[in-house]
Amino acid sequence: MDASTLFENDESDFKYVASNELFSESASENEAHVKYPEFNFARDINDLIFKMGMVFANNHEFKEACREYGIKHRYQIHFPTNDKKRVKATHFKKCGWYIWASKLNPKDPTYMSMQIKSRKFEHACGKVFTNFHITSKWLASHYLEIFRHDPDWSIPGIITRVKAYHTLTINPIKAWRARELALKAINGDEAEQYGFKSDTSNANNSNSGDIT
Ligand SMILES: [Zn+2]
Repeated sequence: MDASTLFENDESDFKYVASNELFSESASENEAHVKYPEFNFARDINDLIFKMGMVFANNHEFKEACREYGIKHRYQIHFPTNDKKRVKATHFKKCGWYIWASKLNPKDPTYMSMQIKSRKFEHACGKVFTNFHITSKWLASHYLEIFRHDPDWSIPGIITRVKAYHTLTINPIKAWRARELALKAINGDEAEQYGFKSDTSNANNSNSGDIT
């Protein structure tokens, strides 16, 4: 399993059924002439600029983009409306900033793309120095490669890094949890693989005689 999949909240969003039949039924004449800006996660996530009409693969990707935007610019984003057809992103401070995205093709149940339909991109508020988007899961995922190379990365080291790169202070428990999650993700595949085999072969299991 790819380590990144451990961090997905809702994998059902990724179930995509290609269906040319449904699509040709619901495709209208107008849509053929319009080219919408398409969000590309790998290309756009690090320097995200939301655009009116922008298309996301699904609601999960749209929310992920909002969270990353919040982390980068130090805004805490809420989703007061949040289902597979409609997502409204607002700023926690209720300053007026919002993005409303809904299904690009609402009549097609298999086509999950979400599009920005209305928005107010200006904030009338200050930035914050704590941010609930920076969860231990997010840290584990974001710094996975560092944890891979340095499984003993110290708690103060993690805190210092987050403070330097995100201008945010996290508590030691969050840093510790992040390391636990990352190491679990890194070692998880191996442990699982050998876990199945160890039923018949405990030769390498140092705890085999230690039954309490
Ligand atoms: Zn705001």
